[in-house]
Amino acid sequence: MEKFILKLKKLKIISLFLLLFSSVILANITIKNTPIPGGVAVLDFESNHSNPKAFYRTIPLYVQHIENNHWQVLMGIPLLEKLGKKSITVQGFSTQTLDFEVKKHNYTEQHITLKGKKKKYVNPNLAHMKRINQERPILSKARVVFSTQTLSNGLFSRPVDGVTTSPFGLKRFYNKQARRPHTGLDYAGDTGTPIKAPADGKVILIGEYFFNGRAIFLDHGQGLISIYIHLNKHLVKQGQLVKKGEIIGEIGQSGRATGPHLHWGVYLNRTAVNPNLFLDKQGL
Ligand SMILES: [Zn+2]
Repeated sequence: MEKFILKLKKLKIISLFLLLFSSVILANITIKNTPIPGGVAVLDFESNHSNPKAFYRTIPLYVQHIENNHWQVLMGIPLLEKLGKKSITVQGFSTQTLDFEVKKHNYTEQHITLKGKKKKYVNPNLAHMKRINQERPILSKARVVFSTQTLSNGLFSRPVDGVTTSPFGLKRFYNKQARRPHTGLDYAGDTGTPIKAPADGKVILIGEYFFNGRAIFLDHGQGLISIYIHLNKHLVKQGQLVKKGEIIGEIGQSGRATGPHLHWGVYLNRTAVNPNLFLDKQGL
C-alpha cells in the first residue's frame, strides 16, 4: 500500500512538472501571416531585451517569444482598414520599426430579412437607442482590456461542434440596409447546446445587451479576447478563471438573432479578426 502511495506521489510530481513544462511550450500561438482586413499580421523581430513591447500607433500589441532573441508580434487588422503600408513600433533596448502591407481580400455579401418582433433590430426606436447608447461604452471597455500576462495556452479549440452558418467578414444587409460587416463566426446549434472555452482565460464581462443578447467576454491576455453572444444561459461568473474545454454557457437566440446559433468573435488589439485563424485546425 505504501509503495502504491509513493508511486502515486511520484506520478503527481511528474504530471505537475509536465503541466508546468507544457504550459511554457504551448503558450505560443502559431498562426499564418494574413495581412488582409480582418486578418492578423505576423511579424518577426530580434531583440535581446527580456520583455520587448510593440505598438500600432499607441495601441499595445500581442508579443510572443519564439527562441533566443527571436520574437514575434501579432497584430489584428480592422475589417474596414485602408489597404497599403503600415508600421509597428517595437521597443526593447532600442526602438525598431516593422513595416508590412495590408492586401485586398474580397468577402461575400449576405442579405437578411428581419420580420415581426425582430424588426426592431433594423431601426431601433428611441427607447432602444437609449439602451444601445448606454451599453456601447461597457462593451467597448471590455474590448480594450490589455492584461500583460498571457492567459491562453496555444491555439484555440472550437467552442461548439456545429457547422458554420455565417463566415467572418460577410458584408451584411438587414432588410436591404447596409450594416457593419460580420465581425464574428456563426455556428449553428440548438438552444441549450453547451459552449466550451476555446483556451484558458478570464471572464471579463457578463451581461445582457440589446444587439448581443446574453454575452460572455473572455480575456486570454495581451489584448486577445474572445466573445460569445446570443446565449441562452451564462454558466460562468464575472472574474472567473476558465480552463480550455470548460463549459461557459449555452447556445440561444437572445438579441439580434434570427434563430439559435453561437456568434463567436475574436478580438486582437481591439480589432475583430477571423476566429478561424486561431483554431488548431486553421483555414480561411
Ligand atoms: Zn454572428
